[in-house]
Amino acid sequence: MPSRATPSADADRGGAGRPTSHRVRHVMETLAREIDGLELPAVEKISNEQQEDPFQVLISTLLSARTQDATTLAASTRLFRRAKTATRMATLTVAEIERLIYPVSFYRHKARHVKAACRRLITAYGGRVPGTMEELLTLPGVGRKTANLVLILSFRSRRNICVDTHVHRIANRLGWVETRSPEETEQALYQRTHPRWWPLINLYLVTWGQNVCRPLYPKCEDCALRPFCPQKDVTRVARVHAVRRRRG
Ligand code: SF4
Repeated sequence: MPSRATPSADADRGGAGRPTSHRVRHVMETLAREIDGLELPAVEKISNEQQEDPFQVLISTLLSARTQDATTLAASTRLFRRAKTATRMATLTVAEIERLIYPVSFYRHKARHVKAACRRLITAYGGRVPGTMEELLTLPGVGRKTANLVLILSFRSRRNICVDTHVHRIANRLGWVETRSPEETEQALYQRTHPRWWPLINLYLVTWGQNVCRPLYPKCEDCALRPFCPQKDVTRVARVHAVRRRRG
Protein backbone atom coordinates (compact mmCIF):
# COMPACT_ATOMS: atom_id res chain seq x y z
CA MET A 1 0.00 0.00 0.00
CA PRO A 2 1.16 3.55 -0.59
CA SER A 3 2.55 5.23 2.51
CA ARG A 4 0.61 8.43 1.90
CA ALA A 5 -2.76 8.65 3.59
CA THR A 6 -5.71 7.79 1.41
CA PRO A 7 -8.46 10.39 1.78
CA SER A 8 -11.63 9.41 3.51
CA ALA A 9 -14.65 8.71 1.38
CA ASP A 10 -16.51 11.93 2.21
CA ALA A 11 -17.53 14.08 -0.71
CA ASP A 12 -15.50 16.96 -2.16
CA ARG A 13 -17.04 19.92 -0.46
CA GLY A 14 -14.50 22.70 -0.66
CA GLY A 15 -14.51 23.26 -4.37
CA ALA A 16 -16.81 26.25 -4.64
CA GLY A 17 -15.79 28.28 -7.67
CA ARG A 18 -13.84 25.34 -9.08
CA PRO A 19 -15.64 23.01 -11.46
CA THR A 20 -15.25 20.22 -8.90
CA SER A 21 -16.12 17.10 -10.72
CA HIS A 22 -17.94 14.22 -9.18
CA ARG A 23 -16.25 12.15 -11.85
CA VAL A 24 -12.84 13.13 -10.46
CA ARG A 25 -13.92 12.09 -6.97
CA HIS A 26 -15.41 8.82 -8.21
CA VAL A 27 -12.24 8.04 -10.15
CA MET A 28 -9.90 8.88 -7.26
CA GLU A 29 -11.95 6.95 -4.72
CA THR A 30 -12.11 3.97 -7.07
CA LEU A 31 -8.37 4.10 -7.68
CA ALA A 32 -7.65 4.32 -3.93
CA ARG A 33 -9.18 0.85 -3.68
CA GLU A 34 -8.05 -0.58 -7.01
CA ILE A 35 -4.33 0.22 -6.83
CA ASP A 36 -4.01 -1.67 -3.53
CA GLY A 37 -1.82 -4.65 -4.35
CA LEU A 38 -0.62 -3.33 -7.72
CA GLU A 39 3.07 -2.69 -8.38
CA LEU A 40 3.95 0.85 -7.25
CA PRO A 41 6.00 3.22 -9.43
CA ALA A 42 9.77 2.93 -8.90
CA VAL A 43 10.25 6.38 -7.36
CA GLU A 44 7.41 5.73 -4.90
CA LYS A 45 9.11 2.50 -3.83
CA ILE A 46 12.45 4.25 -3.36
CA SER A 47 10.77 7.04 -1.41
CA ASN A 48 8.97 4.54 0.84
CA GLU A 49 12.08 2.48 1.44
CA GLN A 50 14.40 5.45 2.03
CA GLN A 51 12.18 7.42 4.43
CA GLU A 52 11.34 9.93 1.70
CA ASP A 53 15.01 10.98 1.43
CA PRO A 54 14.91 14.05 -0.87
CA PHE A 55 18.26 13.31 -2.53
CA GLN A 56 17.32 9.76 -3.54
CA VAL A 57 13.87 10.86 -4.70
CA LEU A 58 15.48 13.63 -6.77
CA ILE A 59 18.09 11.41 -8.42
CA SER A 60 15.77 8.46 -9.07
CA THR A 61 13.20 10.80 -10.65
CA LEU A 62 15.93 12.19 -12.92
CA LEU A 63 16.79 8.64 -13.97
CA SER A 64 13.15 7.63 -14.48
CA ALA A 65 12.36 9.80 -17.51
CA ARG A 66 11.40 7.62 -20.50
CA THR A 67 12.68 4.53 -18.73
CA GLN A 68 10.92 1.34 -17.65
CA ASP A 69 10.31 1.21 -13.92
CA ALA A 70 12.28 -1.98 -13.36
CA THR A 71 15.29 -0.40 -15.08
CA THR A 72 14.99 2.79 -13.00
CA LEU A 73 14.79 0.80 -9.78
CA ALA A 74 17.80 -1.37 -10.60
CA ALA A 75 19.91 1.60 -11.78
CA SER A 76 18.98 3.71 -8.74
CA THR A 77 19.84 0.84 -6.41
CA ARG A 78 23.27 0.40 -8.02
CA LEU A 79 23.98 4.14 -7.89
CA PHE A 80 22.85 4.62 -4.27
CA ARG A 81 24.88 1.60 -3.21
CA ARG A 82 27.95 3.60 -4.29
CA ALA A 83 26.80 7.02 -3.13
CA LYS A 84 23.84 8.02 -1.00
CA THR A 85 24.55 11.75 -0.69
CA ALA A 86 25.31 14.62 -3.04
CA THR A 87 28.76 15.02 -1.52
CA ARG A 88 29.63 11.39 -2.12
CA MET A 89 28.02 11.22 -5.57
CA ALA A 90 29.88 14.33 -6.73
CA THR A 91 33.16 12.43 -6.28
CA LEU A 92 32.14 9.88 -8.93
CA THR A 93 33.20 10.56 -12.50
CA VAL A 94 30.59 10.93 -15.22
CA ALA A 95 31.88 7.68 -16.73
CA GLU A 96 31.36 5.86 -13.42
CA ILE A 97 27.83 7.22 -13.13
CA GLU A 98 27.16 6.15 -16.74
CA ARG A 99 28.28 2.61 -15.95
CA LEU A 100 26.16 2.46 -12.80
CA ILE A 101 22.94 3.74 -14.38
CA TYR A 102 23.18 1.95 -17.74
CA PRO A 103 20.78 0.95 -19.40
CA VAL A 104 18.41 3.80 -18.44
CA SER A 105 17.49 5.77 -21.52
CA PHE A 106 19.76 8.73 -22.33
CA TYR A 107 22.15 7.44 -19.67
CA ARG A 108 25.05 9.60 -20.91
CA HIS A 109 22.95 12.74 -20.78
CA LYS A 110 21.48 11.81 -17.39
CA ALA A 111 24.92 10.98 -15.93
CA ARG A 112 26.11 14.51 -16.79
CA HIS A 113 22.99 15.97 -15.18
CA VAL A 114 23.39 13.85 -12.04
CA LYS A 115 26.99 15.00 -11.61
CA ALA A 116 26.15 18.66 -12.31
CA ALA A 117 23.13 18.58 -10.00
CA CYS A 118 25.27 17.16 -7.18
CA ARG A 119 27.82 19.92 -7.65
CA ARG A 120 25.12 22.57 -7.62
CA LEU A 121 23.57 21.06 -4.46
CA ILE A 122 26.98 21.34 -2.76
CA THR A 123 27.89 24.84 -3.93
CA ALA A 124 24.46 26.47 -3.60
CA TYR A 125 22.62 24.48 -0.94
CA GLY A 126 25.22 22.98 1.40
CA GLY A 127 24.71 19.50 -0.03
CA ARG A 128 21.01 19.43 0.83
CA VAL A 129 18.05 19.31 -1.56
CA PRO A 130 16.16 22.63 -1.43
CA GLY A 131 12.44 22.64 -0.72
CA THR A 132 11.00 25.18 -3.14
CA MET A 133 10.03 24.94 -6.79
CA GLU A 134 12.17 27.97 -7.68
CA GLU A 135 15.30 26.51 -6.10
CA LEU A 136 14.75 23.02 -7.47
CA LEU A 137 14.42 24.38 -11.01
CA THR A 138 17.96 25.82 -10.74
CA LEU A 139 19.36 22.27 -10.62
CA PRO A 140 20.65 20.89 -13.95
CA GLY A 141 18.21 18.45 -15.54
CA VAL A 142 15.38 19.28 -13.13
CA GLY A 143 12.06 20.33 -14.65
CA ARG A 144 8.62 20.77 -13.13
CA LYS A 145 7.85 17.03 -13.12
CA THR A 146 10.90 16.18 -11.03
CA ALA A 147 10.52 19.23 -8.78
CA ASN A 148 6.84 18.50 -8.12
CA LEU A 149 7.55 14.88 -7.23
CA VAL A 150 10.35 15.83 -4.82
CA LEU A 151 8.08 18.41 -3.17
CA ILE A 152 5.21 15.91 -2.85
CA LEU A 153 7.18 12.85 -1.71
CA SER A 154 9.95 14.38 0.36
CA PHE A 155 8.53 17.70 1.56
CA ARG A 156 4.93 16.47 1.89
CA SER A 157 3.60 19.35 -0.20
CA ARG A 158 -0.14 19.33 -0.72
CA ARG A 159 0.02 22.18 -3.25
CA ASN A 160 1.69 20.44 -6.17
CA ILE A 161 0.62 18.06 -8.91
CA CYS A 162 3.27 15.95 -10.62
CA VAL A 163 2.35 15.33 -14.24
CA ASP A 164 4.28 12.81 -16.28
CA THR A 165 3.25 11.08 -19.52
CA HIS A 166 0.88 8.68 -17.68
CA VAL A 167 -0.95 11.47 -15.86
CA HIS A 168 -1.11 13.55 -19.05
CA ARG A 169 -2.49 10.65 -21.10
CA ILE A 170 -5.05 9.40 -18.58
CA ALA A 171 -6.33 12.86 -17.58
CA ASN A 172 -7.07 13.42 -21.29
CA ARG A 173 -8.64 9.99 -21.81
CA LEU A 174 -10.85 10.58 -18.78
CA GLY A 175 -11.93 13.92 -20.22
CA TRP A 176 -10.67 15.88 -17.20
CA VAL A 177 -8.55 18.09 -19.47
CA GLU A 178 -7.98 18.69 -23.16
CA THR A 179 -4.32 19.49 -23.39
CA ARG A 180 -1.31 18.89 -25.59
CA SER A 181 1.55 18.70 -23.11
CA PRO A 182 2.18 17.62 -19.51
CA GLU A 183 2.89 21.28 -18.63
CA GLU A 184 -0.55 22.33 -19.90
CA THR A 185 -2.13 19.37 -18.11
CA GLU A 186 -0.55 20.36 -14.80
CA GLN A 187 -1.98 23.86 -15.00
CA ALA A 188 -5.41 22.61 -16.13
CA LEU A 189 -5.56 20.09 -13.28
CA TYR A 190 -5.00 22.85 -10.71
CA GLN A 191 -8.15 24.47 -12.09
CA ARG A 192 -10.26 21.36 -12.48
CA THR A 193 -9.54 19.12 -9.53
CA HIS A 194 -9.95 19.63 -5.82
CA PRO A 195 -6.67 20.25 -3.92
CA ARG A 196 -7.30 17.22 -1.73
CA TRP A 197 -6.38 15.04 -4.69
CA TRP A 198 -3.28 16.91 -5.86
CA PRO A 199 -0.61 14.94 -3.95
CA LEU A 200 -2.27 11.65 -4.96
CA ILE A 201 -2.91 12.21 -8.66
CA ASN A 202 0.57 11.08 -9.70
CA LEU A 203 0.61 7.94 -7.54
CA TYR A 204 -2.86 6.83 -8.59
CA LEU A 205 -2.70 7.62 -12.31
CA VAL A 206 0.87 6.42 -12.83
CA THR A 207 0.07 3.12 -11.10
CA TRP A 208 -3.06 2.78 -13.26
CA GLY A 209 -1.15 3.77 -16.37
CA GLN A 210 1.50 1.12 -15.82
CA ASN A 211 -1.00 -1.65 -15.11
CA VAL A 212 -4.30 -0.93 -16.89
CA CYS A 213 -4.57 2.33 -18.85
CA ARG A 214 -1.41 1.66 -20.80
CA PRO A 215 -0.30 3.90 -23.69
CA LEU A 216 -1.06 1.18 -26.25
CA TYR A 217 -3.96 -1.22 -25.97
CA PRO A 218 -5.41 -0.05 -22.64
CA LYS A 219 -7.41 -2.72 -20.81
CA CYS A 220 -10.67 -0.77 -21.07
CA GLU A 221 -12.96 -3.77 -20.94
CA ASP A 222 -11.45 -4.82 -17.62
CA CYS A 223 -11.09 -1.29 -16.19
CA ALA A 224 -12.80 -0.22 -12.97
CA LEU A 225 -12.90 3.37 -14.27
CA ARG A 226 -14.96 2.51 -17.32
CA PRO A 227 -18.24 3.91 -15.89
CA PHE A 228 -16.56 7.31 -15.48
CA CYS A 229 -14.44 7.33 -18.64
CA PRO A 230 -15.34 8.61 -22.11
CA GLN A 231 -12.15 6.89 -23.40
CA LYS A 232 -11.20 9.98 -25.36
CA ASP A 233 -8.85 9.31 -28.27
CA VAL A 234 -8.67 5.60 -27.43
CA THR A 235 -8.81 3.73 -30.72
CA ARG A 236 -7.58 0.25 -29.88
CA VAL A 237 -8.03 -1.64 -26.64
CA ALA A 238 -6.71 -4.91 -25.30
CA ARG A 239 -9.00 -7.86 -25.95
CA VAL A 240 -10.49 -9.02 -22.68
CA HIS A 241 -10.14 -12.73 -23.23
CA ALA A 242 -6.45 -12.23 -24.05
CA VAL A 243 -5.99 -10.18 -20.85
CA ARG A 244 -7.77 -12.78 -18.73
CA ARG A 245 -5.79 -15.61 -20.23
CA ARG A 246 -2.53 -13.84 -19.40
CA ARG A 247 -3.71 -13.27 -15.82
CA GLY A 248 -4.62 -16.93 -15.50
S1 SF4 B 1 -11.68 2.85 -19.52
FE1 SF4 B 1 -9.86 2.64 -20.85
S2 SF4 B 1 -9.20 4.75 -21.32
FE2 SF4 B 1 -10.60 4.86 -19.56
S3 SF4 B 1 -9.22 4.78 -17.76
FE3 SF4 B 1 -9.87 2.68 -18.16
S4 SF4 B 1 -8.26 1.81 -19.48
FE4 SF4 B 1 -8.05 4.06 -19.54
